[in-house]
Amino acid sequence: MWRLYAEYGREQVPQAILGVFGTLTSRSVGLISPFVLGLAIDAVFLSQREYTLPFLPQAWVPSTPTGLLWLSIAVIAGATVVGAVFQWLANWGWNSFAQHVQHALRVDTYDTMQLLDMGFFDEKQTGEMLSILNNDVNQLETFLNEGISSALRIGVMVLGIGVIMFAINWPLALVALLPVPVLAVFTYLFVKKIQPKYAAVRASVGALNSRLENNIGGIQVIKTENAESYEVERVEGASQHYFDTNWDAITTRIVFFPGLGVITGIGFAITFAVGGFWVLNGAPAGLPGTLTAGQFVTFMVYTQQFIWPMAQFGQIINMYQRAKASSARIFGLMGETAKHMESSDAPDLTVTEGTVEYDDVSFGYAKADEPVLHNVSLTATRGQLLGVVGPTGAGKSTLLKLLVRMYDTDEGTIRIDGTDIHEVNTQSLRRAIGYVSQDPFLFYGTVKENIAYGTFDATDEEIVDAAKRAEAHEFIMNLPDGYDTMVGERGVKLSGGQRQRISIARTILKNPPLLILDEATSHVDTETEALIQRSLNRLAAEKTTFAIAHRLSTIRHADEIIVLDDGRVVERGTHRDLIDNDDLYANLWRVQAGEIDDLPPEFIERAIRRRAEVAETEFAEADAGWEN
Ligand code: ADP
Repeated sequence: MWRLYAEYGREQVPQAILGVFGTLTSRSVGLISPFVLGLAIDAVFLSQREYTLPFLPQAWVPSTPTGLLWLSIAVIAGATVVGAVFQWLANWGWNSFAQHVQHALRVDTYDTMQLLDMGFFDEKQTGEMLSILNNDVNQLETFLNEGISSALRIGVMVLGIGVIMFAINWPLALVALLPVPVLAVFTYLFVKKIQPKYAAVRASVGALNSRLENNIGGIQVIKTENAESYEVERVEGASQHYFDTNWDAITTRIVFFPGLGVITGIGFAITFAVGGFWVLNGAPAGLPGTLTAGQFVTFMVYTQQFIWPMAQFGQIINMYQRAKASSARIFGLMGETAKHMESSDAPDLTVTEGTVEYDDVSFGYAKADEPVLHNVSLTATRGQLLGVVGPTGAGKSTLLKLLVRMYDTDEGTIRIDGTDIHEVNTQSLRRAIGYVSQDPFLFYGTVKENIAYGTFDATDEEIVDAAKRAEAHEFIMNLPDGYDTMVGERGVKLSGGQRQRISIARTILKNPPLLILDEATSHVDTETEALIQRSLNRLAAEKTTFAIAHRLSTIRHADEIIVLDDGRVVERGTHRDLIDNDDLYANLWRVQAGEIDDLPPEFIERAIRRRAEVAETEFAEADAGWEN
């Protein structure tokens, strides 16, 4: 919390000062009315006291009772207006403070987060990070807004009212304060009892949300499997659980305020009794001090004003605890140290020849696990197409993610034109590489924006030209608003092949010297594939290109094909070489040519074993996803 105020509050000092000043003034001004009320009763109606007000010159005080009454009315009305104005200023100050701190904190947290390496994102749940960026940051709002101002208000009340009450009549002040320790204990017990109940409510909200989210996502399966009644029961179960936990918290909560009322009421009654008899019969048994009827009224109103802020104390503690937990999560995320941070002071990469070398590279996602890549070495030069093939899970995508430094190699080096990619700044590295993935992601925005994503200064002509070369122009022109059609989540639904062509246009526009095509034509029909392949070939002509392919026909003409199996290079050569070699590649080729009967039995056995392993990991992933 200290860090929150020191780092983010520092920029907002003027608002905080306004907030503090406004709160102190409005609360102090609020003390005036009960005091004047008591004074007016004594001086105007009972003529028991002389009419004197601090800071008011005696010459301004009228001599007639009517004049005094008007003065009292004017002071009370004036104090109310002034109090309201200062309260408005205080609210303005604190709200502005809270909003600015929240805004700066959210942007900073996001900025820190997006620079973390992919390993971090693999481990964290999307929902968890969203909840930090959104819920936790918003959670701070209440405390930033009200925390300090409530604490100040209590301070003013305790000090101001306490001092005035003790000055008027200290024995009665002690009586009036009797409920305070009782209230403190009562509030403490309440907070202790309700907190685990609130935690249970939050957990059951989470469970209900996941259930609903999962069901909406899986609506198609629910329908095809006729599982509607089964799901209604499950939703009902989750909703009932939420009902039960919430009801449990409600039954506790609704006891609190009446309970406070009873305690303060008893205290009020005792003060009223002692004070009332004091005014009526004079000081009770040997107690010092005097009490007029007017002072008694002042006293009773202050007692009311005093007790409620004390009861709020528990809420402030509660607010503080929640804000502290959120801050801890936010600063925890800010404190994550990435495996590598993008260091901008490293020199830029300059690609001259476009030669890429993998030198004995090994890599594993987690240190404890078996590495995913073992001692891979390869070289590709400008104008070359290097095909990467192998069964699912062999490590093809991983191999190329290392080139764009989504992850860092554990052993060995990757060099571009002789420079180790770890010694250049990551931005310049990524600028030099175009990446067309199997599952292209489109942002919510126009087609045009999606094509120009990364090349933000592209002109309309360049965008259209890139789309034409990616064979995307025709279908874009058929969209409702052409290049200005909104796509991505919540936008017009595009087919996999259309998304892929937009992503290819994006890469064509970027025109990088190195190219990674990760199953670039996986989502398109055979005809479109031929067209895209043509434009990709044109694009790849003067570049160093890596192409991952399941459909081996797409890399048949590659200059070299690397065959990966279990993270090891098991074969390499041209299509012809590999067919002659008659091993894994030749068998994969037979599968695709439909010559299943010619496959050796060992290949079939391996395939069955491999599918079993893949199914196992997919099952484990699905399981882990569900639990979260
Ligand atoms: P391919 O592209 O050949 O299908 P991948 O490179 O995607 O293979 O995966 C290679 C292996 O690494 C697989 O066993 C896969 O389960 C594992 N893997 C892939 N991505 C991750 C990740 N983010 N975290 C942990 N393991 C991963």
